[in-house]
Amino acid sequence: MIARLNRPDYDRWACQIKRTGGCRQPIHLRGKVEHYDRATGQLLHSYTTRTEPDGILRVPCKTRRASRCPACAETYRADTYQLVRAGLAGGKGVPETVSTHPALFVTLTAPSFGSVHVRREKNGKVLPCHARRNAATCPHGRVMSCTARHATDDPHLGEPLCPDCYDYEGSVLFNAVSPELWRRFTESLRRRFARISGLTLKELRERLTISFAKVAEYQRRGVVHFHAVIRLDGPTGPTSPPPAWATAEALEQAVQHAAGVVTVEIAPLARTFRWGTQLDVRQITMDGELTEQAVAAYIAKYATKAAECVGTLDRRVHTLDELALHPLRDHARRLIATCLHLGAREDLADLRLTQWAHMLGFRGHFSTKSRRYSTTLGALRAARQDHMRAEELTTGRLPLFDEDTVLVIAHWQYAGKGLSLGDQLLAAALTGQHAPHLGGPHD
Ligand SMILES: [Zn+2]
Ligand SMILES: [Zn+2]
Ligand SMILES: [Zn+2]
Repeated sequence: MIARLNRPDYDRWACQIKRTGGCRQPIHLRGKVEHYDRATGQLLHSYTTRTEPDGILRVPCKTRRASRCPACAETYRADTYQLVRAGLAGGKGVPETVSTHPALFVTLTAPSFGSVHVRREKNGKVLPCHARRNAATCPHGRVMSCTARHATDDPHLGEPLCPDCYDYEGSVLFNAVSPELWRRFTESLRRRFARISGLTLKELRERLTISFAKVAEYQRRGVVHFHAVIRLDGPTGPTSPPPAWATAEALEQAVQHAAGVVTVEIAPLARTFRWGTQLDVRQITMDGELTEQAVAAYIAKYATKAAECVGTLDRRVHTLDELALHPLRDHARRLIATCLHLGAREDLADLRLTQWAHMLGFRGHFSTKSRRYSTTLGALRAARQDHMRAEELTTGRLPLFDEDTVLVIAHWQYAGKGLSLGDQLLAAALTGQHAPHLGGPHD
């Protein structure tokens, strides 16, 4: 810290750090950018990292995971909020008329893989977990009952009453097939609307678009479920209204139907997976009980949560030996070990369970949207970069060029990432972020 503070380029370093917005593990880039006049070939401006502190430029890591970088995850969360909200209320290039399109907020859950400890509340009172008179005893001699009133932070929540009865294979396999189950669900919606309207699927596409934005959320038991905004549009997406027969009620019926019928089979194990019976479907309105703001906030919140909130690892683990080195609760360990066991099977290779063992089998994206839902994260990032460039122009760092007449040649090289311990503390002080735990396991 003292060495950094005493360096003559400290101010420039501090400026770089501030521009990363408090990123905990900034990417280091080495390289240069040159601006040439297209007509004369004259070098108008050049920038090189050679004169920067340590000869590198630090840029934000842009991770989604709050456990890795709270600052970048917060940016991601805010962008996701804007993206979801624009798809419901308009803005960011989406017309406001989109708010008149039928839209539902749908939660699709996973089925049960065995009884787990739960916290239940009724009228503000916490109820016993699984209070059963004459509860059965499982083959492992455990009584299938629990009268505890679990606190919200009880580590037993989500853990099975009997780990030996629990269907660990089912749990990780459901996670693995859930993206395909979702894809079949959306296909089923389209087929249903084709039937309602008497159109072929191809004709339907010319009149109706089913747009969506969704996030995956891990339940405490380590299985994913999905929250989705599903909206009906005309053929061009949010800019055109859906046909009159494509109502919120018709969509709700289609969702109820699709959630009940779609399946994915894993042939080598002769297992078939479907959604759980707990389906939640609600209409989103601008002024009703479920507003577009509430939905956008909800989806954005889950976009930055990975599986670490269920006590698993936030990075890859490939072998059981490696797994043994991590301090984990038994439930998470068994879920990961099941992935590693099944992942070793040739006939299940395409589920890539070893690679996604740390995610308990889920290899999908945490937040996804259909092409026409609203704006994109890329567009939001580009807008922010334009803003930063404008700032550079006004502070005189880059001369103002006409984009068409200037040739930009850039060479960038990855040169590592992260901050030294002393730099971390200074960076935290500069950007108002919490300093990371010292002496903890290193990223
Ligand atoms: Zn970051
Ligand atoms: Zn319990
Ligand atoms: Zn048992």
